[in-house]
Amino acid sequence: GGRLTGKVALISGAASGLGAAEAALFAREGARVVIGDVQAEQGQAVADAIVRGGGQAAFITLDVTEAASWQAAVRFALSRFGALTTLVNNAGIFRMGGVMTTTQQSWSDVIAVNQTGPLLGMQAAAPALLAAKGAAIVNISSIYAVTPSPDAMAYHASKSALLMMSRAAALEFARQGIRVNTILPGRIDTPISGDIAPDQLAAVNRRIPMGWTGDPIDIAQGALYLASDDARYVTGAELIIDGGWYAS
Ligand code: NAD
Repeated sequence: GGRLTGKVALISGAASGLGAAEAALFAREGARVVIGDVQAEQGQAVADAIVRGGGQAAFITLDVTEAASWQAAVRFALSRFGALTTLVNNAGIFRMGGVMTTTQQSWSDVIAVNQTGPLLGMQAAAPALLAAKGAAIVNISSIYAVTPSPDAMAYHASKSALLMMSRAAALEFARQGIRVNTILPGRIDTPISGDIAPDQLAAVNRRIPMGWTGDPIDIAQGALYLASDDARYVTGAELIIDGGWYAS
């Protein structure tokens, strides 16, 4: 590989699931990777595994709901790797709840991580990205941004907002050298799936036209493309990776 040679990527929520797969693939393709997560032990282990495999990676504790935490993560990338070229807003949480059952606490938790988090990330990273060559932001939304379910009101709201935030940011930075794109993953097997009720999960699985649940690498491959200079003319775009769910 080498499709990300020269890039320095900060990936939020990279201690687990999709973020860990993105970090490993980015490093394999030559990027230096900063893994940011609230799960310190697990995040450090992801970084250590990449380094053992010959890649360049470092962990920093990052709470995406705190602006100061983002600023520290960006400073860490700059001091450790000399630049920041790439931001992946990947951290996310899921809470069940429809109109009748969403508590104000679960609503604000989901909005804080999934919606406010990416804004704070883009704000903290923008100065460094503006100074970089081949800069890109990849925002990890969800197929739930565009297809409803009866029991995930806050999640739908946050992921749908992130989709529009990405497109707006793409316009804001279009002439300044930062591309901003969104991935809409369908059902992928990660720990977040454990937060979904089993009967709902079964319904989700039945909906997948290809008939199988995706692997984190399937999302990482999309993020790699959008982060790489192969996507130099791609901004404000949405990449659906869902086994055919949205098309159906
Ligand atoms: P995951 O639970 O395995 O990983 C999410 C990571 O985010 C965890 O490591 C967690 O510690 C971290 N995180 C949570 N709150 C944080 C905070 N405040 N600050 C920093 N990190 C925080 O789940 P995943 O499936 O890998 O999810 C990654 C992204 O993909 C999420 O945004 C999720 O909504 C999205 N997504 C997942 C699926 C799926 O089916 N797995 C589908 C669509 C979208």
